[in-house]
Amino acid sequence: MPPSPSRVLFIGLDGGTSAVLGPIFDRGWAPNLAALWRRSAVGRLRSTDPMVTPVAWTSFSTGCTPLRHGVHDFNYLDHARGAIREHDAATVRVPTLWEEISRAGGSIVSLGLPITYPAPKVRGLLVAGADAPDRDLAFAQCPEFDGLLRAEVPAYTHKLVWKRRPRTADEALDQARRCAAIFDAQAEAARLADARVDWTAMMVHFHNLDSLQHRMWPYFDVDETGVREAGFTDAVERCIRALDDSIGRLLDLASDRDAAVVVASDHGFGPCRSLVNVNGMLRAAGLQRTRVYGTRFRYRAIRVLERFRRWKALREPGGVAPEKARPIDGQISCDWRRTVAFAPFGQLCGNVFLNRSAVSGASADRALAELIGLFREARDPERGEPLFADVYSAADRFGVDPAEHGMPDVFALSADGYQAQAKWSERHRSTIQRPDPGLPGTHWLDGVLAVDAPGVRPGDRLDAELHDVAPTALAMLGLEVPGFMQGRALHEAFEAPLDEPREAEPVDVVAASADGP
Ligand SMILES: [Zn+2]
Repeated sequence: MPPSPSRVLFIGLDGGTSAVLGPIFDRGWAPNLAALWRRSAVGRLRSTDPMVTPVAWTSFSTGCTPLRHGVHDFNYLDHARGAIREHDAATVRVPTLWEEISRAGGSIVSLGLPITYPAPKVRGLLVAGADAPDRDLAFAQCPEFDGLLRAEVPAYTHKLVWKRRPRTADEALDQARRCAAIFDAQAEAARLADARVDWTAMMVHFHNLDSLQHRMWPYFDVDETGVREAGFTDAVERCIRALDDSIGRLLDLASDRDAAVVVASDHGFGPCRSLVNVNGMLRAAGLQRTRVYGTRFRYRAIRVLERFRRWKALREPGGVAPEKARPIDGQISCDWRRTVAFAPFGQLCGNVFLNRSAVSGASADRALAELIGLFREARDPERGEPLFADVYSAADRFGVDPAEHGMPDVFALSADGYQAQAKWSERHRSTIQRPDPGLPGTHWLDGVLAVDAPGVRPGDRLDAELHDVAPTALAMLGLEVPGFMQGRALHEAFEAPLDEPREAEPVDVVAASADGP
């Protein structure tokens, strides 16, 4: 049994992929990460169904699959209210690693991890991620730390830089400067947090790596879509060097504190060949009908009204964002009497719901079979490849009533390179597939994992799932792995197996999670 470290430093590489790491190690852009990779047990970390931020990082933090933690997308459908609502830390159905460590008497530092707003009850210091509605709310758990960062690390932000693809080299370099400053500020914020908290676990999350890759993928020049172009290539190199420098400082901090290091990504990355119009496919198959009159007006009016409500609520003194519950009609416009199925939200997954007011019983079963066939058979006409990697009925796969879990009836998970989209511009409404020039890169399934700890066996030997990370970290720390966690401790990362004290699985965990999100 390897000796237990008393601390673990987690580095969240959002969208980190071996497709990028290999080439940037060879180019010498990331010497600190490359050295870490050489001394660690490394390998593949498979993402969740679907491979999107809130689902994947929740599996990472809870050690559970989406069925148990309850987050299946950014949004969920609240059937009782007929509204679309957003997931946040409050809708996660099981405790996180951070709460478990706090409960065992430890403290944590977490900077920028998604789905940590509103902050769970933890000892230590937690700054939420890009999904927090604003800065004050991101720092709600530690307002004094916000004050300190404003004074000493003004570049620190929980927000994302790469909102759109830069059109000129100057624009790319300008965004790169901001991105590099944020990476730098993250290491500095971690140093200041370390001086204040005697932490057992520290998490520093680099979300801007994901948005950089979305907008600048070709300039990484790691596959057939790669190009080198002055300014753009330099912008990428600058960001990666700043990221690596920041990670180097975190690794020094880990070494000063004798902390083990775990680097994890939430999904991989690759070129985005095309977006796929999920509702367009349903319309083409006759499963969805558009309202004949007033469609666009109604749709726009609901959206404008929603924005106005938010704006008004936030303007009031001490105003907080209203609970985000959006009417389905504001997301998608259908003739509900003649619509069988609809996808009100979702990226990288067709989240398809049956319209229960129009179909039930045997007709619902027939509709489900038709939907599954439709998505399974969908191919890219140019390359002949399937557009979806896996398509299934939630009831069949999970043995639960999807409506009770706010989850879709059918999951159609995007194949690597084809980003399914519920939202689609009106102008291209009948196009099924379309490349998006603003989004040259997107999430692919296989992310990366590196574990550097006492007794680790270096080398490319891991083949793990996101929910394996939390149990591995707890076992490494010598803490009991709670029974609700479904992942396994990754013994193969070590010379000798870890001791894995594990609580018995609570029998009521699935029943308890059926109460709705
Ligand atoms: Zn992303």
